[in-house]
Amino acid sequence: MYMLNNKKVCVIGSGVSGLCSAIELADKGMEVHVFEKNKEIGGRARKFSVEGFTFDMGPSWYWMPDVFENFFKRYDKNLHDYVNLVKLDPGFQIIYNNETIQIPEKFEELVLLFEKIEKGAGGQLIKFIEEAEIKYMTSMKDLVFNPSLSIKEFIRLDVIKATFKLNLFSSFKTHVNKFFKHPKLLSIMEFPILFLGALPKNTPALYSLMNYSGLKQGTFYPIGGFSKIIEAFYDLAIEKGVTFHSDTAVTKFHLTGKQIDYIETNKGRFFVDKVLSSADYNHTEQALLPIIHRTYSEKYWDSRVFAPSSLIFYLGINKRIENLEHHNLFFDEDIQKHAMEIYEDPKWPTKPLFYVCCPTKTDKTIAPDGMENVFILMPIATDLSDTEELREKYFKIILQRLQKYIGEDISPNIIYKRSYCVADFKSDYNAFKGNAYGLANTLKQTAFLKPKIKHKKVENLYYTGQLTVPGPGVPPSIISGQLVANQLIKDYETVI
Ligand SMILES: Cc1cc2nc3c(=O)[nH]c(=O)nc-3n(C[C@H](O)[C@H](O)[C@H](O)COP(=O)(O)OP(=O)(O)OC[C@H]3O[C@@H](n4cnc5c(N)ncnc54)[C@H](O)[C@@H]3O)c2cc1C
Repeated sequence: MYMLNNKKVCVIGSGVSGLCSAIELADKGMEVHVFEKNKEIGGRARKFSVEGFTFDMGPSWYWMPDVFENFFKRYDKNLHDYVNLVKLDPGFQIIYNNETIQIPEKFEELVLLFEKIEKGAGGQLIKFIEEAEIKYMTSMKDLVFNPSLSIKEFIRLDVIKATFKLNLFSSFKTHVNKFFKHPKLLSIMEFPILFLGALPKNTPALYSLMNYSGLKQGTFYPIGGFSKIIEAFYDLAIEKGVTFHSDTAVTKFHLTGKQIDYIETNKGRFFVDKVLSSADYNHTEQALLPIIHRTYSEKYWDSRVFAPSSLIFYLGINKRIENLEHHNLFFDEDIQKHAMEIYEDPKWPTKPLFYVCCPTKTDKTIAPDGMENVFILMPIATDLSDTEELREKYFKIILQRLQKYIGEDISPNIIYKRSYCVADFKSDYNAFKGNAYGLANTLKQTAFLKPKIKHKKVENLYYTGQLTVPGPGVPPSIISGQLVANQLIKDYETVI
């Protein structure tokens, strides 16, 4: 292991995957430098603070808590020494046009709720979640930590057995429809797929593992905001000796033969032994690598199915709002139509669904006394034209529906407002087509069918993050960082 000691790795990007890979590499003795183009650490999971409000810019749903805990355990650390995690009850609520359904923290209560909505659905939920739990456990044990460099990794008896157990080749839609008929129950089961990636008919049934996490493990929240998790990763990285270069964009790779020998940044050259990029894969390939070294063509990227972009509003409200919970999904319009307008016929939605996060329902530390911190997100197709007028048009539509639900006019109480959309994703993160959540988890883009974590020709270049394995979301990005770092170390040891 001592051979790794003098080796210098450059990690591009300080998002979740970059931070986790940096921690793992430094823990194994490498000299790790993280280069981040933005002033703040955290990538899509950054925060910003203004006028007494602290807004999480991206993630707000904390699912798969074991992934976070296990990451800290790897280094003999306890996540709970870094963050104060609370479990939400209700986990979330869904607002339909004729009723609001709250998803209780206790699974037994959820079973009763399902039974009330559809006769027999309570028992079906138990069966569905039992199966989803097996998928979750099997995936965590056998699949997600595979580097997915080749199909051969999956031709192992235990993995083949697991694949059948996971019903990998059936669609999520077919799977869910076998259990439930009521449209409201279908929307409860399908929304994580829709918000994070693709149409349920194009998504493998494997991803019902997300339902296990959301409905059985529950929804958590770190007091102070999701960014507390970023602070925890950052603190651990510093403890391990990682050096951060923020406000430093990597602009080009310089190669000698098949090796990157130095990177160019806006602050000068930096010599490296290895490069691990957690920036959007497409950006690393198309903007940083000389053309002759690129693995994937522009045509390839154009043919990929991307997870949605988003129109986001961060609002500071100078009073308390009744009726909202921490997580609120507004499904008071046709869910299928909005889904089609994201995935099949990309356009600004006719009648949008949206999500409202009001974390001050749980946490008073992120807003001035008596005020609410509100985050609104409307998923949209990637690469739509993004103008101030369009943002405002949708703000009015959303505010009207929100106000109708809460039963009061809050427009005079909005004391802070910031919008964020396609153009910001492109300029802040170099996000391909302004995607928010990376590459969608479709069947044709799962495991070894995703862009590879290791460059085919450039011997010292690796990729991590939500555009490669295992996929989008904070927990998968944690796993991605860890598994790519391990691959890099393994390759080193093989050569040595
Ligand atoms: C609005 C939104 C809501 C979300 N909600 C949830 C949620 O509720 N729950 C959940 O689990 N997940 C959620 N996600 C997804 C989750 O945030 C991401 O999957 C995860 O944070 C991605 O991490 P990453 O490391 O792959 O990428 P990123 O966070 O994008 O990190 C990449 C970093 O690379 C930097 N970079 C790019 N180019 C360069 C360059 N040339 N030089 C230097 N640095 C560069 C970028 O600035 C960025 O900081 C959400 C995402 C968004 C955008």
